[in-house]
Amino acid sequence: MKLCKDAGKSKENVCKAFTDKQNKLQAKKFASVPSDKCIVVAPHCMRNTVVCVAAEKEGYYICKECGGCRISEISKLVKELNYKALYVLKGGRAIKNIVKEQNTRAVVGIACFFEGEQAFKLLKDENIIVQFVPLSKDGCTATDTNLQEVEIILKNNKNTEL
Ligand code: SF4
Repeated sequence: MKLCKDAGKSKENVCKAFTDKQNKLQAKKFASVPSDKCIVVAPHCMRNTVVCVAAEKEGYYICKECGGCRISEISKLVKELNYKALYVLKGGRAIKNIVKEQNTRAVVGIACFFEGEQAFKLLKDENIIVQFVPLSKDGCTATDTNLQEVEIILKNNKNTEL
């Protein structure tokens, strides 16, 4: 059991190192993309399924800001900073279709480290710039992220001189 836990931790550390490096490498390019050409994605495991009134679509949900989970505050920030849209993904793979449909140049992704690593790899072929914010509470339900970290990333392309 402990071996399993250690292996999981070590995999997470590898993903963390990868996503940290990619975030740094892509930060300047991300800052050059206008926010209305950029979407934000969060995982469905952050939803409070007891109260959630999000609109369900094929591969994602659209948050209605009911205040039941952190996504509500993120959705408000996304609008305030003029980002194109926020998608609450049912699974990481839906992102590829969304970026094509929305003609997106960049994505801010909130996810666990493993999904974050996958997103960088998945979107590299599409020439999409990615910035990643990890979950602060991982798991299958009632997950969470640090709103301040989300805000710092979202404001990056407002504050950086080109
Ligand atoms: S804030 Fe949005 S995603 Fe969260 S529970 Fe409410 S409608 Fe669902």
